[in-house]
Amino acid sequence: MKLFGIEIDERPREEILKDIIQRISSSQRTFVVTANALIMLKAKEDKEYRNALKSANLVVPDGTGIVIAARFKGKKIGKYPGVELAKDLINEGVNRDWKFYLLGAREEVVSRLAKVLNAKGLNICGYHHGYFEGNGPIEEIVSKKPDVVLVAMGIPKQELWIHKNIDKFDKGLFMGVGGTFDVLSGFKKRAPNWMIEAGLEWLYRISQDPRRWKNIFRLMKFFFYAMFDRS
Ligand code: UDP
Repeated sequence: MKLFGIEIDERPREEILKDIIQRISSSQRTFVVTANALIMLKAKEDKEYRNALKSANLVVPDGTGIVIAARFKGKKIGKYPGVELAKDLINEGVNRDWKFYLLGAREEVVSRLAKVLNAKGLNICGYHHGYFEGNGPIEEIVSKKPDVVLVAMGIPKQELWIHKNIDKFDKGLFMGVGGTFDVLSGFKKRAPNWMIEAGLEWLYRISQDPRRWKNIFRLMKFFFYAMFDRS
């Protein structure tokens, strides 16, 4: 399915995960975007960001907004939230001894997450906070030859960083994961299950961080554009 000219993966999550595992196992360099309504709206409005998303190998429907937009086009698709995909990759990574690099979030968050994941048996080959100028620790990351690079710097930074730097690597799975490090490290809570199931995780995030209230207008704008999208 295309939305704002960008191909969104319609497959069930098990198939998407299988594909990603296969790509990592066969050392295929891969860029995965977990797209929610705000990411898609940014892509609609900003050409540089749109080009970054168009260069991705897989654009996975992360949120309820995308699922509803698909309905407008007569398609019934499921969602695969980025935080769940990241958890699935971590579990696979423990079993398959993949090397993970964690890039993003505050120093105390990413260092705690590295410790937590290490204790679970995950091979963390390095980590770095997400507050840097330019390309940051790119040479260090390239030299580590990671199998998976999780980039948690928010929208649009994370996808722009991946788009700009992915060609420097011979292999690896690159994925922007937004606020996932804050959740997995235990610094922030995810919404309660009933809210996730009701498609209200966005409302929970706004209630936790009132600076996000403007996102309600962004969401309305997204639905307006999605309703009339003919791509
Ligand atoms: N972040 C970062 N560098 C920045 C801005 C944000 O590493 O320059 C981190 C921030 O600490 C958080 C993550 O990016 O862990 C996601 O931020 P936010 O929740 O604001 O982004 P969203 O997921 O809403 O895009």
